[in-house]
Order: sequence, then C-alpha cells, then structure tokens
Amino acid sequence: MIVETDSLSGFCFGVRNAVEIAEKALRAGEEIYCLGLIVHNEAEISRLVALGLKMIDHEQLERLKNSRLLIRAHGEPPETYRIAERNNITIIDATCPIVKKLQARIRKTWLESRENGGQVVIYGKPGHAEVIGLLGHINNDGILVSGPDDLSGIDFTRPVMLFSQTTMSVQEYGRIAQLIRDNITECGITDPDKSLKVHNTICAQVSGRESQLRTFARKHDIIIFVSGKYSSNGKLLYSVCKSANPDSWFVSSPGEIERSWFEGKKSA
Ligand code: SF4
Repeated sequence: MIVETDSLSGFCFGVRNAVEIAEKALRAGEEIYCLGLIVHNEAEISRLVALGLKMIDHEQLERLKNSRLLIRAHGEPPETYRIAERNNITIIDATCPIVKKLQARIRKTWLESRENGGQVVIYGKPGHAEVIGLLGHINNDGILVSGPDDLSGIDFTRPVMLFSQTTMSVQEYGRIAQLIRDNITECGITDPDKSLKVHNTICAQVSGRESQLRTFARKHDIIIFVSGKYSSNGKLLYSVCKSANPDSWFVSSPGEIERSWFEGKKSA
C-alpha cells in the first residue's frame, strides 16, 4: 500500500510557537503554569506535562500568586492580564501574533462603531477561548453568531461590522455574510454593502489549507486524519477531508485505527 503523509500537516504556526515557548522555558528549569490547554492534542499535552508544564483553569488562576503564567495561542481577554497583575504573576505571552492583531482590530472597530451606531458581530464558536478573548477586548459588547439561527440579535437597520474567529470555514463565513446582507436589504436599505463591512479574519493557515486538503483527500483511497478530539481547527479540516473523500477517518491515537478500513484500498 502507498502511504503518503500530507507535507503541510502539523500544528499551525501560532500553536507551534506557543509550544516552543513553553518547551524552552521548561527546559531552562522554569516553573510555568498554562491557562487552559496549550494545544487541543492529548498526546502533546502529556508530553509537555511530563516536562513539567502545569495546566490550570480560570478559577485556579484567581488563587495563583507569584508565579509565571503562559498565555496560549488563542489569547485572553484583558481581565486575565488584570488578575495576573493583581496576583504578582509574570505573563509569558504566547498569543498568536495573528490573534493579537485581530484583538486590536476588533477593539478599534468597536470604539469607532460606538460613534456611528454600529454593531460588532463575531462569527465563531460559543465558549471557544479565542472568542472569549475577542469579546473581552470589546467589553463583551459584541454579538456572537455561530450559525444562521443566531442572526436575530442583529439590528439590520444599523451598520454591521462582521469578524470571524480565525479558524472558521471560509465558505460558511461567506454564507453568514450573505444572510446578513439579505436581511439588510429586506429592511429597505438599497446598498447593503455600505451597511455591512466584512472583515477577512480567517487565518490563512486555515483558509489556504482547505483547497490543498481537498486535493490531497481526493488523491487517496482512504484518509486517516490525526487530530486532538477538541481541536476546532482539526474538526474543520477533517470535515473538508470527509466531504472530498467519504473514506476519511478521524483518529487521535494509533489504537483507534481499524484494520478493516484498509481492506481493498491501495493508497492512504
Ligand atoms: S491565527 Fe492561525 S496561526 Fe494563529 S493560532 Fe489561529 S490558526 Fe494558528
């Protein structure tokens, strides 16, 4: 059987950067805490925990004092930095630079929107760390939309500034933008594009991957997609594989692979 590993597979740049920062500090003998999962991959977490990384949640952060805290690639709301300052915690900021830029861009837009009666709308997953961070940067004064059923919170007679979480599907984002445009038109606004500003904020590491992955998935009889179960990026890219090749399987460890999947197949 011919087995090919997608040469573009692996963690995205932001996550790789955060893992490298953590690993460097741990190997230098530093005691560091990480707020939330540094990466949504159980095997990688176990490796870093074995090196000494201590994982904590936001509740535990309230009680943590005089320590070093790693902020992962997804970023955090300003409140986390305030708690750290109060508790004499040194922050090692591994927020992905792309997310950092997005936080600043959303905040700037939000401040401007308050002058023209606009609304900031974020297309993303409820409860996702990046979304919590983004909303925090606009004092939680944004409208979170995770699908077509969530549009009722938007006032279509007012300007809409639309942003996306960095790891969402480009196609779905386009669909949401079109639905908002349609609703604005239904309100009698003749030029909806003046009322709706769609910010292109899906990370190129994700959007660029979709078409390459589709081609790769079609090239092989069977696809074994390896990812952590809770990775938002992983789930999205797996769905791309599955739509291009129904013989695609999602696994997080070697033990989940079944022999029967390979029967009669020539390439994977
Ligand atoms: S913005 Fe892109 S590179 Fe950064 S963490 Fe998200 S997916 Fe990774």
